[in-house]
Order: sequence, then structure tokens, then C-alpha cells
Amino acid sequence: MVEKSRGIIWSNGQFMPWEEAKTHPISQGPQYGLGVFEGIRFYNTARGPAIFRLREHLERLHHSAQVLRLAIPPLGEIEAIIKELIRRNGMQEGYIRPYFFHGHLEYGKAKIGLNVQDSQTESVIAVLPWKNDPQEFLRVKVSSYRRIDPRSTDVSAKIAGHYVNSFLARLEAGETGFDETILLDQKGYVAEASVENVFAVKDRVLYTPNLGTILPGITRDSVIILAKDLDFKVREKNLRIKFFKKADEVFLCGTAMEILAVGEIDGVAIGNGRQGDATKQLARLYRAVVEGRVEQYLHWLTSVN
Ligand code: PMP
Repeated sequence: MVEKSRGIIWSNGQFMPWEEAKTHPISQGPQYGLGVFEGIRFYNTARGPAIFRLREHLERLHHSAQVLRLAIPPLGEIEAIIKELIRRNGMQEGYIRPYFFHGHLEYGKAKIGLNVQDSQTESVIAVLPWKNDPQEFLRVKVSSYRRIDPRSTDVSAKIAGHYVNSFLARLEAGETGFDETILLDQKGYVAEASVENVFAVKDRVLYTPNLGTILPGITRDSVIILAKDLDFKVREKNLRIKFFKKADEVFLCGTAMEILAVGEIDGVAIGNGRQGDATKQLARLYRAVVEGRVEQYLHWLTSVN
């Protein structure tokens, strides 16, 4: 849920009003999805606005860029731009969206093919206001689409073109009356939701799909670490959807959504059909951590000022 932006963005090396950023549609980012991006959040903490796990997000961005052979600025430079952008927009909390893609701004150099050797990197970083979904739990459909396969692309990279798969799955769920969707991998194991990773809870053990067919979520990683502090055991393994339907609790997690309970899957109620205790505990701890209220995890926050 994005409200109206305050209006300053950074694009191709300059800060500018939102309306003035431009790219040409005849470039490989828009044409083929040959771009990489991140979704990062910053929160209003006692020490002012602070960005959650910025380093990990920027490392993933660099990994994604490497997969597409896209040259992007060093981590430190992107970090400085993001901080300045937040200050210029005068925001205390929100969502950060860096997007870098293969393109060209000059007519004579425009490329319409898949060869990117002579392309330029076009770049944009935007910050947007962000509010959490007020829903307490989600009704989820198992998608008829399968998750993109590691034999067809590099699923560990956050590449724009990959999101056709997420989009179609989410569209199908929305058009059939569901809030979200879970995709299975090509072997029939649970992979992930459209833009979230997925966990099941059974007898105080957290289960989540192995890396390999999923985006390695930074929230997923945070949940695995925080769960141990709450005395949950965590197992990463390949799991069937049947296991999720019979779990005590299921939840989705991602930067945008944070941690949100799954009340039902294809009409089958999970546990009490609402938010279970484990999900509630984890969501509460996660909130405290991102807001800088847990000393032990202050190192996950980068102060803007
Ligand atoms: N899976 C996919 C496909 C995603 O797009 C996202 C959002 N980046 C996630 C999982 C969750 O990742 P993160 O916790 O890093 O936001």
C-alpha cells in the first residue's frame, strides 16, 4: 500500500523531482526485464530513521547485478545516496526501491537486442511511504503456476523479469478470491509465495523450504535467527503442501509484509484459522527489532543521520 510520494528521487547520478526522472522505453530493462532491484525498509527509531539490514540488501543487489553482468555503484556509494534521499524527502519511515537496468539514453546508441556489452546502466532509487497491511491473517491459494526453476534462471537473483511468474500467480489468486498464493517448485515441493518466503510451525519447530528454488529472503534469514532466541527449533527442508495444511501455524514473511499469518490454504483452515501464538510472538519480536528496541540486534540497523 503506497501513499503519494514526497517526491525526490535519485536517477542516473542526480537527485531530482519525481516527475523529472526519465528513461526510454526502448531499452533492455523495460523490454526484457533485464534489471535488478531491492525492496528495503527504514523505520522510525529512537535514534531517528534507520534502515533495516541495508548491507544484506545491497549485497544481494550486487549479486543480482553480477548475474546480469550489470555494472552498478559500490555498496558504500549506494548507501550514501539512500541516506541522502531519505533526508531530502524528510521521511522517518518508508520503503526504498533501488532499480538498476540495462539501457541507453542516447538515440543512436539504443539497443533492442539481448547483447548488453555496449549498454549503459540506468539507475533509479525511490523512497516511498509505507504502511503495514492491517489484515491479521491471509487466505492463500496454491498456485496452478510452478515457481521459476533453477535450471531455467538464477532464482537467487532479484531480477525484474522473474516477477512475471510472481505476477501471474498473484493475479490468479486475486481473481479467484484469495489474498495471496503459494507456488510449488518443479518437483512439487513448496517453494515460496509471490513475494514472500513461507514457514510452517509444528510442535514449536519452524519448517521452511531449503534454499535452491527460492529467493533467499532477508526476512527469512532474520526469522531463522530470531526464532532460536524464542526457543524454537528451525529446520530447512523440502516440504509438501500437505505438511503445511496440517501444520499448527503457517506464516509468510518478507520485507514489505514483515510476518503475517496464513489463516487458510485452499479453503483448509490452518490451526485456529487465524493468527497462532508462534506467529504472534515472532511478529512482535521482529517489530521490536526493526524499530530498534532490541539492543542485541541494533547492528541490523543503519542510522540515516
Ligand atoms: N521471495 C520473493 C520472490 C521476493 O520477491 C521476496 C521479496 N524480496 C521475498 C521472497 C522475501 O525477501 P525479503 O525478505 O528479502 O524481502
